[in-house]
Amino acid sequence: MRFATWLSGTRAMALGFATTFRHLFRRPVTEEYPEFKRSLPERSRARIVLTRDPDGDERCVACYLCSGACPVSCISMQSAEREDGRRYARWFRIHFGRCIYCGLCEEACPTLAIQLTPHFETCQRTVLSLVAEKEDLLVDHGGKHPEYNYYRHAGVAMVGGKGTHLGEAPPVELRSNLP
Ligand code: SF4
Ligand code: SF4
Repeated sequence: MRFATWLSGTRAMALGFATTFRHLFRRPVTEEYPEFKRSLPERSRARIVLTRDPDGDERCVACYLCSGACPVSCISMQSAEREDGRRYARWFRIHFGRCIYCGLCEEACPTLAIQLTPHFETCQRTVLSLVAEKEDLLVDHGGKHPEYNYYRHAGVAMVGGKGTHLGEAPPVELRSNLP
């Protein structure tokens, strides 16, 4: 019995040493950051941006849904309306010092305006430098959804007449329905 215990202990120890020995001659896999930067998947959740639609207009319609969905209340804004009736955020602010990069704001956004990007190198020495204003957040592209245009899908008159919106059937000539 004692011999069997000794044998199994010795075997386990030999296996352990063998593993250590094998790794001694392997190439190290350490990635030296920041010299080496691994490219992250497109859907990684880091720095947040506000995107534009294919017409170049701001997508955000200041509906407050992202701000309501945010579990740490780090999004604030004030809504306003252009002369043509299109809504926008007069100011839009995210406190990245509180953001936990959960992505709920992106999930809640009906216009695909707010998007998380893989850019994670955003640390600062003072917490107030982590407060981003609209001009820091607004980019001049559509991000992950370059083709999406909320207003053209919604079928509102300010971006086209009846029947010209995406997926919209042409208007029916009422008189043609008469018996
Ligand atoms: S990622 Fe999460 S915590 Fe950060 S702003 Fe969006 S909802 Fe708030
Ligand atoms: S980013 Fe999206 S969810 Fe947030 S206010 Fe603008 S349109 Fe609404």
